[in-house]
Amino acid sequence: MNAGPRIEREKTTVERMIHMYCAAHHSSPLCNTCEELLQYAHKRLGLCVFGERKSTCGKCPIHCYKPHYKQQIKQVMRYAGPRMIVKHPVLAVHHLLDGLKPAPKHPKHSKPSRTQD
Ligand SMILES: [Zn+2]
Repeated sequence: MNAGPRIEREKTTVERMIHMYCAAHHSSPLCNTCEELLQYAHKRLGLCVFGERKSTCGKCPIHCYKPHYKQQIKQVMRYAGPRMIVKHPVLAVHHLLDGLKPAPKHPKHSKPSRTQD
């Protein structure tokens, strides 16, 4: 399980975004659907094969979300993305900078000897 500062910050970012989205569209603090989405997003980050080297999820060459959750998180990002710069400027700037990094290569290409998990 990833637990580095980079992953932890991504977890915080996605949590803030889901909270913003839910407060505007559903309920406050968080409805069951969004709570489930948040748990899922945190789990995916914890299991991200790139770990601390990851780009932003939007740029990742691996689409690790199930279609159902992917649809939901897209809506969240579309709503909360532009608003992050106002509400959470520090996190937003970090996220923008992370997005400028090139997406890492697929680990299975760079480490052919990697064992299956
Ligand atoms: Zn909600």
